[in-house]
Amino acid sequence: MHDPRRHGDGVTLKPVDRHLEEILATVRAVTPLELDLDQALGTVLAENVTSPLPLPPFDNSAMDGYAVRAEDVAGASETRPVVLPVMDDVAAGDGRTYAVGRGMAARIMTGAPVPGGADAVVPVEWTDGGTVRVAIRRAPEPGNAIRRAGEDVRPGQVVLPAGTLIGPAQLGILAGVGRRRARVLPRPRVVVMSTGAELVPPGEPLTPGKIYESNSYTLCGAVRQAGAEAYRAEAVTDDPAVFLDRLEAQLVRADVVITSGGVSMGAYEPVKEALAPLGTVRFDKVAMQPGMPQGFGVVGEDRVPIFCLPGNPVSAFVSFVLFVRPALDKMRGLPAGPPRTVPATVDAPLRSPKGKRSFLRGVLDGDVVSPVRGQGSHQLGALASANALIVVPEDVTEVPKGATVRVIPL
Ligand code: AMP
Ligand code: MG
Repeated sequence: MHDPRRHGDGVTLKPVDRHLEEILATVRAVTPLELDLDQALGTVLAENVTSPLPLPPFDNSAMDGYAVRAEDVAGASETRPVVLPVMDDVAAGDGRTYAVGRGMAARIMTGAPVPGGADAVVPVEWTDGGTVRVAIRRAPEPGNAIRRAGEDVRPGQVVLPAGTLIGPAQLGILAGVGRRRARVLPRPRVVVMSTGAELVPPGEPLTPGKIYESNSYTLCGAVRQAGAEAYRAEAVTDDPAVFLDRLEAQLVRADVVITSGGVSMGAYEPVKEALAPLGTVRFDKVAMQPGMPQGFGVVGEDRVPIFCLPGNPVSAFVSFVLFVRPALDKMRGLPAGPPRTVPATVDAPLRSPKGKRSFLRGVLDGDVVSPVRGQGSHQLGALASANALIVVPEDVTEVPKGATVRVIPL
């Protein structure tokens, strides 16, 4: 019987899942370091952060109003307001000690410490707003509008466990407990290198036979969106020796290298020619479309992981989504696995080669997905109009309109 993974030229293709497993087994989390909070967004905590203090640190007012003894104003109503003398004015940040005596009130602002003796705050809206005497028209419950010390966070409490992804709110609690720095897994530094004698940087004149270099823009964008730092290296022509030189120069600042181009079966394949002899980078044919030729391994003394992605723009991007993104998740200290898929109904028939998992570009709208026009692996324009990849399994060659498919939202 015909082996579905046996490619036309007799080579057995490597399953997509196995390629990802090998990658995830190779890459490791980056080394933790202390970072200033301003640098920590998108990093992952490498320590349990405990609070040295209660939050709020002291009982304080939740509103602008008057600190009182609740029993003194228990009978207050719209028709029979209780009038109290106003003894003090307590502003937020006021460090002096105040006390509210029996039958008295203190004007108090949001965030100001509640004076001793007071057990309720009357919002200014329930009063005539007086500064010498205040008429109170509604009785507060004891404890009204008071934020108690420690009601949010107790001293010694773990506010963020190791492994937490730091977003805006996490930065807030770190600062809120007085931390200026935190021990985190920093963003992996990713060097992106394009290869191809035909490539011209965008913005320069295009001469015959050339195309604009676009992969490094796609890949740097994808890297940044994945929570890592991207560095674009100058594109390299198709000379393996030059490629190797440039790669070595980049290794000092890289936790990962991504190259594009130069890994297929043609005559000028500098990435493959330069790296295959090292023995630490494997070049495989993976059972997928687009993106069949894939290189992965490690380079240099520090054994820096390197992804050698195919050059076709759609292939490079799909390869990133399937393989590089999960690897970056693992390096960042996050759970890592294949991209998340959702079910959708396809509104047109699909075709897919036997023995390969297809990732067709589509537009997902609610739970309906439409394949875009132009499914070639060079079709950048079509890719840019898509927001999802439609996954067609290896053993399926035709999907009828109306069928349920799995979709990777982009
Ligand atoms: P390769 O994998 O080097 O054989 O390249 C496959 C196709 O992708 C060729 O048509 C290249 O011109 C194109 N290509 C390779 N690298 C890039 C790049 N950085 N930007 C845009 N197109 C590229
Ligand atoms: Mg090339």
